[in-house]
Amino acid sequence: MVTTTPAIVRIAKYLVRSGEDECWGWTGHTDHLGYAKIDPGPGEHGRSAAKFVLEDALGRALRPGLETCHSCDEPGCCNPRHLREDTHASNMADMARRGRAATGLRNAHGKLTDEEVAALRADPRHPNEVATAFGVSAPYVYNVRAGRRRAVPRA
Ligand SMILES: [Zn+2]
Repeated sequence: MVTTTPAIVRIAKYLVRSGEDECWGWTGHTDHLGYAKIDPGPGEHGRSAAKFVLEDALGRALRPGLETCHSCDEPGCCNPRHLREDTHASNMADMARRGRAATGLRNAHGKLTDEEVAALRADPRHPNEVATAFGVSAPYVYNVRAGRRRAVPRA
């Protein structure tokens, strides 16, 4: 009979438990997006560490069709207080609302003021330079200039 160490025990050594409401870091494997991954056990693929943390906190497996969602902007965060189970659609909407869908935004809300949007549009520099100057991503600059995206809804 093969006994394996439960994943929640295996991952505990990689968790950096900070303050209760702070993001908990992860010193183990991460994927290319920075999400914490568990070392595969026998017969396992690298799985989401946050999912295990959340399921441990919930005391049950995630419900079918739901996924692990972060309420913070730290993909590697494994603080169960920053995790919830939610639908993929809700997760995407939440990420978009907080500006995570476009990376490199300068704050959690990813919002520029109307003045900043106007200044960004008027800036004659290359989008890459403008992006750096405004602390946003180059695609964001392209989109704002193309009128496809406004950070602040019209009143
Ligand atoms: Zn967090």
